[in-house]
Amino acid sequence: QLSKRLEEVASFVPDGARLADIGSDHAYLPANLALNGKIAFAVAGEVVKGPFENAEHEIKKEGLEAKVKARLANGLAAIEANDQIDTVTICGMGGPLICEILESGKEKLSNHPLLILQPNVGEENVRVFLQKNGYWIEDERILEEDGHTYEIIVGRYHGEKQPLTKEELMFGPFLMRNQSPVFVRKWQKEIEKTNRVLSQLQKANQVPVEKKRELETEIKRIEGVIN
Ligand code: SAM
Repeated sequence: QLSKRLEEVASFVPDGARLADIGSDHAYLPANLALNGKIAFAVAGEVVKGPFENAEHEIKKEGLEAKVKARLANGLAAIEANDQIDTVTICGMGGPLICEILESGKEKLSNHPLLILQPNVGEENVRVFLQKNGYWIEDERILEEDGHTYEIIVGRYHGEKQPLTKEELMFGPFLMRNQSPVFVRKWQKEIEKTNRVLSQLQKANQVPVEKKRELETEIKRIEGVIN
């Protein structure tokens, strides 16, 4: 049984995919997809020994050794040419780390696999990375689970740069067009947080004018987007 978050990620993996799940920990995502006959093959990559052993254990427990390979490797180094990977998932990490993994393993992306990315924070970094590298955001989801808000961003290679506004990079082109209650709640909380910072700075009587303007602009920008 997958978490709601990984269930949503799984729903974007194409039938018959050859998947690399990087930072797989227990390999729950590839194991579930393999058990349901949804994928042809998967690599579960892990850079830390403990989680790598978790992945090995799960794969063995489910009898999936022929279809799912656990590999101890840093980022995309887990992918080998013979794997013919066409889909990459990277979930449950910060956006900057996801970008670093993709950036430093770029040669493994030469066949332009579908990228299904689930940053816990720093989603804008991921959108900027995709845009810079000729990927177009093809779909997005936002969901709440156990008090956390998660975003899923699906990128497909097109070659040329996707035209995205500053707002679309920050809020997500699909998420802002199709505003769900979770989306609105996330950004309302962001306004409240920014307001709190602003009033604390004011109380301490030390608000540099620029900082104040920056925070106010941020609030106005969010207010201009949420319905
Ligand atoms: N992907 C799973 C999920 O979404 O539930 C596990 C997420 S867990 C919070 C993040 C995992 O990423 C950890 O097990 C960590 O060891 C792994 N990780 C972090 N940096 C990595 C890297 N450069 N290469 C491979 N795995 C990495």
